[in-house]
Amino acid sequence: MNLSSDKEVAKKSLIFLNTFLLIVHVIFLLLFACTRVTVMAVMNIFSVLSYAAGFLLIQKRKTNHQIVITFFEIMIHMFLAVICLGKDCGFQLYFIGCAAVVFYAEYFSVRLVGRHIGAIFMSVCSGVLYFIALRTSGRVGVLYSYSIGFQNVLMVLNSTAVFIVCIYFYSMLTRIANFYEEELSRQANHDKLTGLVNRFYLLDYLQQTYDEGKMQNYWLAIVDIDDFKMINDRFGHNCGDFVLKSMTSIIQSCCGDLIACRWGGEEFVMVGAMPGGKEAETEVLETVRKTVAEREFVYDGNRIKLTITIGAAPYLECQNIDEWISAADEKLYIGKHSGKNQLVI
Ligand code: GH3
Ligand code: MG
Ligand code: MG
Repeated sequence: MNLSSDKEVAKKSLIFLNTFLLIVHVIFLLLFACTRVTVMAVMNIFSVLSYAAGFLLIQKRKTNHQIVITFFEIMIHMFLAVICLGKDCGFQLYFIGCAAVVFYAEYFSVRLVGRHIGAIFMSVCSGVLYFIALRTSGRVGVLYSYSIGFQNVLMVLNSTAVFIVCIYFYSMLTRIANFYEEELSRQANHDKLTGLVNRFYLLDYLQQTYDEGKMQNYWLAIVDIDDFKMINDRFGHNCGDFVLKSMTSIIQSCCGDLIACRWGGEEFVMVGAMPGGKEAETEVLETVRKTVAEREFVYDGNRIKLTITIGAAPYLECQNIDEWISAADEKLYIGKHSGKNQLVI
């Protein structure tokens, strides 16, 4: 699922609901016609027509009209059904299903046409009608009586229909909520341009590792593109972005188990455990530096050469995270002021 397909999911769910209710009401129509429950048979002719028209309304993006018509249809139909056939056939269960599903319908409407449908009001109406229908039925008695066996069959069918709708819609709602939660957390932790984790994520990660006392053999390197501003000035900002993305690929291809982060602007950080110590860290970072220096970045016909400067420092027992980062930053500063295109470790 992605953000645009989320609209598709909402539309499909609405079509599912409309189709499902159309089938249910065709069955009701046949059932009531065959058993001569005339009031309900006539009611179901209107119901079937309203669901057939529902497809048209969905296609014409009049989603909220379709939802409101569906709601009224269910309320009137189920109220009449409880009055005509009594509570033992289970038609009142649709009020309960409806009271829950209107909230998902509200979600459809907002997603598809940007309008609220008043879900709380509809849900409360559904609940109130449930009680009024039961009370009225208790007072007037059953108008059309079915055999107990047939009443049980209807009770099972109606319960199943309500379960299917509730399970379908609440599983969809959970899926959508989980999707958004993951997506928001991904967006909060990652840099949009390069796809690397961002500074906030990395600082949280380092603090957690520090708190757990697992910083042995950790190294942190700050990689800074030399004279990057000039690339933006000469070739444009889009070219600068292209260079940043290309740089990301190089860093990712060299970093192995290290975490690569876009620290900000044209600065990257590579951090992680390096059991091989200074020698192993030097090897990795020199590979990155040389790969960049040897690469020709081609953008829009321009062949661009560039270099990077890297400052790296091991984690020392006595340091906190800020002191450790400052130590790497000081090395970077030294590299920048002694000719650039070098690793200071
Ligand atoms: P030095 O060698 O001292 O590091 O010089 P520099 O030009 O690389 O560093 P400076 O800090 O002067 O300039 C960094 C530039 O990076 C300035 C800013 O416009 C550019 N920049 C920051 N973020 C982005 C980005 O996302 N895309 C592009 N295209 N440019 C960016
Ligand atoms: Mg910089
Ligand atoms: Mg720079």
